[in-house]
Amino acid sequence: MSHNVTRVLIPPRKVIVITAPSGAGKSSIVRKLLKQMHELAFSVSCTTREKRLGEEHGKDYFFISAEEFKKRITNNEFAEHEEVYPGKFYGTLKSEIENMWNNLQVAVFDIDVKGAVNLKKQFGNDALTIFIQPPSKESLINRLKNRATEDDKSLKARIKRSEEELAYADKFDKIVLNRDFDTAYMRVKNLVIGFLKPETIHVH
Ligand code: 5GP
Repeated sequence: MSHNVTRVLIPPRKVIVITAPSGAGKSSIVRKLLKQMHELAFSVSCTTREKRLGEEHGKDYFFISAEEFKKRITNNEFAEHEEVYPGKFYGTLKSEIENMWNNLQVAVFDIDVKGAVNLKKQFGNDALTIFIQPPSKESLINRLKNRATEDDKSLKARIKRSEEELAYADKFDKIVLNRDFDTAYMRVKNLVIGFLKPETIHVH
């Protein structure tokens, strides 16, 4: 008996989560991915940290006060939130994800390892989680040091946290080694393309 196979594009209520220790180069990969794949949209998080030079409210983050952040926790507005550094809160708004899905876009997250584990629990097979692995601990520390944005105290906190985050690698769907940017980028892009392939249903 032969089957008629119909391909149906199902609105992609899917999410792609790119995670890594701070300083592993995930943000550059996410930026390029968004430039090249227009079906993807960046999930803008809320944060209580200070805005860095060149960052824009509503584009990089929603920069909000600790008080407003707490209010949003109470109102159950976050899909996940973490105190990524002492006193610095970061969180993903449920409304951001819904808006992207309503626009038939796939939500892309650049979040810390704990937030990524949390989203995977919520979205299961509708989430692709990719861990960007730095080539070595030393390379990670050097990258963090080369960032002129951090004062000495927060740099130390970031190094400590990055070391802890390295241990999370095996909790994610895929690990991509970032020894060379172009190779790592192509690998991530191919994983995303594979994940978003149109669903197929069989009609008898
Ligand atoms: P940065 O301050 O360098 O922009 O970000 C610090 C860390 O917080 C990065 O690992 C970044 O991916 C993570 N992050 C950004 N937004 C969120 C979020 O909404 N939730 C969580 N859990 N982490 C986030």
